[in-house]
Amino acid sequence: MTRKLIVGNWKMNGNLAANQDLLHAVSAGLAGAACQVAVCVPAPYLAQAHQAATHGLLTGAQDVSAHEQGAFTGEVSAAMLRDFGVRFAIVGHSERRQYHGETDADVATKAQRALAAGITPIVCVGETLAEREAGQTQAVVKRQLAAVIHTNGHCISEIVVAYEPVWAIGTGKTATPEQAQEVHALLRAQLAAATAHPERIALLYGGSMNAANAASLLAQNDIDGGLIGGASLKAADFLTIVAAASH
Ligand code: PEP
Repeated sequence: MTRKLIVGNWKMNGNLAANQDLLHAVSAGLAGAACQVAVCVPAPYLAQAHQAATHGLLTGAQDVSAHEQGAFTGEVSAAMLRDFGVRFAIVGHSERRQYHGETDADVATKAQRALAAGITPIVCVGETLAEREAGQTQAVVKRQLAAVIHTNGHCISEIVVAYEPVWAIGTGKTATPEQAQEVHALLRAQLAAATAHPERIALLYGGSMNAANAASLLAQNDIDGGLIGGASLKAADFLTIVAAASH
């Protein structure tokens, strides 16, 4: 990876007026940024984000249906996302695994649907606190990524992976740069065994990344960018992270 990738995950936050301000402020702050930047917004705001994002700001969805089309009330297909210029779709975020029962197989199929529509899936993996304390971190993230590799075969070099320790999401507890690097190195090795082009795959860190800790995390060898929740809702904080990724 040469250019880093910074992705905001707005989660279920925002409204038309506030989004407009945030999209304008973030876009305007991107002049001179030397990294790729995207915001993953709630589905009803994808059209707004597509129109208001300028200066190279890319847009993404926070989920995608595992189905192609049909009688799946409430679901949004990859092709529909594509209609709104979506470049990325987060799949397997821990909040979806936890609150919506998404399995490794569901996540792998969602990644496949996104890829088929020309959308880059941002595949989230990460262990819970109990799993970390039981010494299962490596086994858990490897199992989660293996499912996506198994289903997506030679397309695997087209994905983005986000390591998001569940205990660090929205808690203010960040993995230390060393803890994050250790898992990223493991994921990189797993991807290298699956594709001839592992260097094409951006490995993002996510979990309470903020304006103060971004530089030290992004300085690690195998951390190619960040997936940012809370800090992506404040333009100044998000742009400080973008600046840290632009060095
Ligand atoms: C996330 O939701 O993907 C995330 C990393 O959230 P936060 O930055 O708020 O921990």
